[in-house]
Amino acid sequence: MNAPLPTPVRIRAATDARGRPLRDLRISVLDRCNFRCPYCMPADQYPEHHPFLQRHDLLSFEEIERLARVFAGLGVRKLRLTGGEPLLRRDLPLLVAKLAAIPGVEDLALTTNGVLLPRLAAPLRAAGLQRLTVSLDALDPAIFSRLSGQRGDVAEVLAGIAAAERAGFAAIKINCVVMRGVNEGEPLKLAAHFRGSGHLVRFIEYMDVGTLNDWRSERVVPSAEVLAQIAEHWELRALEPGYRGEVAQRHAYLDGAGEIGFISSVSVPFCGECTRARLSADGQLYTCLFAREGFDLRGPLRDGHDDAALAALITGRWSLRDDRYSERRDELRGAIRDRVEMYHVGG
Ligand code: SAM
Ligand code: SF4
Ligand code: SF4
Repeated sequence: MNAPLPTPVRIRAATDARGRPLRDLRISVLDRCNFRCPYCMPADQYPEHHPFLQRHDLLSFEEIERLARVFAGLGVRKLRLTGGEPLLRRDLPLLVAKLAAIPGVEDLALTTNGVLLPRLAAPLRAAGLQRLTVSLDALDPAIFSRLSGQRGDVAEVLAGIAAAERAGFAAIKINCVVMRGVNEGEPLKLAAHFRGSGHLVRFIEYMDVGTLNDWRSERVVPSAEVLAQIAEHWELRALEPGYRGEVAQRHAYLDGAGEIGFISSVSVPFCGECTRARLSADGQLYTCLFAREGFDLRGPLRDGHDDAALAALITGRWSLRDDRYSERRDELRGAIRDRVEMYHVGG
């Protein structure tokens, strides 16, 4: 009789207290921004002289690369660069090239307000950036200007998207945060504009991230309402999720003109499938967008911890993760008064 075969040795991916694996990492590369979107960094709260992080506070590209390698070793397959406005970080393509070379990273993406894309789309593409998300809340110039805190011009963002297309980015995601009384008429215009373009507009419910954006539930436009608006004009069919942890619910136009998506973290929370960690520009690990505080990785990194020790710290923190704020919003919202701000943790 043959001896039983030994059980294959597997490296166990990090799993949290609710059985959710660690799959995606959002990396904020700085907290500054050239916009002041009212839902993220309201202008009256963030004047030009606001004490943003200083250069020595920021992780260097080498430090970000090192942490990203450790995360990839723990099962992270998707990296997304964000901010603040990530394109303001000097020499960003050099970081992209470093991250693109990490074994195990299957998807490397970036979210931007798009203004600096005419200059940076081509070098980012050449450095290995695979996918791009551009935030665009309105096509109407006055509404767009208001939603950028009077800092942005919609024509510049459209020029940025055109530059990204020329640089070879396809299927660009276009993010639109919908706010009641501000831009609820814009989703239809955005859907019409991008239908047939190959790009995917995603409508995002206004979230109560942080404590400074004066969020109120009556300012949220539920995704179902936006979907109904668009479905009055074009027939749509709901699509199955493409992978575990996909946050957007996608719908395809029946006439073949592409897809739209909805990120409905207020009306349809998706915490059960949340496989995402966030690294702030100063090296704090956040296990939820609504976390009170981060877990410091910069200190241990600068103190000389080796990769195995960093991996043990991250796995230890992830294994304790029990976050599901969006599922418990009504109960937790009043109780938690200090939540990290969106521009710090990177959206
Ligand atoms: N500056 C870049 C940009 O705006 O694309 C990247 C960082 S921004 C924090 C990332 C994403 O978060 C953007 O698409 C933005 O619209 C979204 N966002 C910010 N605050 C939000 C809020 N309160 N509710 C929903 N989405 C929000
Ligand atoms: Fe800046 Fe993006 Fe926040 Fe707007 S959403 S203020 S562009 S970081
Ligand atoms: Fe993930 Fe926290 Fe958002 Fe839930 S509330 S989906 S746990 S980031």
